[in-house]
Amino acid sequence: MALMKLSRFHKERGDKVELFLPLAANLYDKVYVSKIFKYSDMPHYVDPDQMEIGGTGFDLKVSLPPEVECLQPDYSLYRYPHNIGFTMRGCRFRCKFCVVPEKEGQPVENNSIEDIWIQKDSDFVVLLDNDFFGNPVWADRIAEIRKHDLKVSFSQGLNIRIITDEQAKALASVQFRNLSGKKKQVHFAWDQWGKGTEKLIDEGFERVKAAGVRPHQMAFFVLIGFNTNEEQDLYRINKLHGMGCDVFVMPYNRTDPYQKALSRWNNRHLWRSVPWPEYRYGEWK
Ligand code: SF4
Repeated sequence: MALMKLSRFHKERGDKVELFLPLAANLYDKVYVSKIFKYSDMPHYVDPDQMEIGGTGFDLKVSLPPEVECLQPDYSLYRYPHNIGFTMRGCRFRCKFCVVPEKEGQPVENNSIEDIWIQKDSDFVVLLDNDFFGNPVWADRIAEIRKHDLKVSFSQGLNIRIITDEQAKALASVQFRNLSGKKKQVHFAWDQWGKGTEKLIDEGFERVKAAGVRPHQMAFFVLIGFNTNEEQDLYRINKLHGMGCDVFVMPYNRTDPYQKALSRWNNRHLWRSVPWPEYRYGEWK
């Protein structure tokens, strides 16, 4: 998003913009780099002395200047055919492993759907909101999605722990999709361990199901390796599979052999054919 906005900013000033080619490095007047996650690869040719680097994975404090932040993304940079944006920033929770509370604080309203839906050839909008229902005006955003009959991806997941009956009904009333837009699926998360959390997940699941979303249309991100052990990880994964939901395991440390193996076993659906105690991968067992 940052690079697409920078692209628009420069094009509006008459500059020529293109994706970086290492072989042409000496020909550019200016190079921008965006690093989304700490673990995102930084190619060897990235040079902080010669390039402007930003992104959550680089420095939480670096942000776009207001005159760039307010611009629409230049989708032609990546030839992206749909629409991406934020209807809100921030989150009501303060999960210890997450940078969103520090970076964005409490929920605040951002763009409307009308602001984000600029490529009208597409009826698909991808929202990057971290807490869609934390937006004080979420009902207005749902009304816009319904009015224009849009398909929508809540790509960062919705907070099922505190979803209300009204919000569950609103969710069921829109054409929700996964990130690719190909599957009718909505994402939630079960990241933390504890009886209190499990009870909230159970209650939220029942509320969403009662509103008309079927279990196989629900997918859960499951964080492993932060402060949970193998038994607790398997409990959450197996329970969600038993409920009929899809599970996507998110390793906290992507180089840890156990976390790599469990992610692969689940995310590649190997659990359907190999029981976890018999699974071997890389340095794991
Ligand atoms: S609910 Fe999600 S966005 Fe909010 S603090 Fe927790 S992990 Fe971060």
